[in-house]
Amino acid sequence: MISESSDVSVAQRLSTSGVRPTPQREIVYHVVLSKRDHPTAEEVFDRVKTQMPTISLATVYNCLDALVQSGLIKQVNFIREPTRYCPNLHEHAHFHDDTTGEIHDIELPGDLMGRLRELLPPGYNARSIDLSFRGSTRPTPAQPGSNA
Ligand SMILES: [Zn+2]
Repeated sequence: MISESSDVSVAQRLSTSGVRPTPQREIVYHVVLSKRDHPTAEEVFDRVKTQMPTISLATVYNCLDALVQSGLIKQVNFIREPTRYCPNLHEHAHFHDDTTGEIHDIELPGDLMGRLRELLPPGYNARSIDLSFRGSTRPTPAQPGSNA
């Protein structure tokens, strides 16, 4: 009863992570993987609809939940912003560009998270650490004579 799945590896990754592969979950995961721009659920919904016009937004939310629960994707939350989704499972920080609204992955030196965990008092076990920056990625124009 195997449907003609375009991407076997996605189905395999789902089942390896304990997620029962369904066509909806496969497409949602594939969409998040294929354009790594930290889409919102609504944006995922728009992209999935082009391939599966009958899918509902509620189903997309359910699929995203299942993928987050299984650890295949991560939620990215910024204050006053809708939740976004990231398939990059390496420990990394996010940079939110307030001008464009884009979110960029920032690679971290390998020992940084370990050093941050060392800041915690004994007995404190961090399940995860969220590091995020907000600002602009555009260079500030030089202002000659700005010593006025
Ligand atoms: Zn990310």
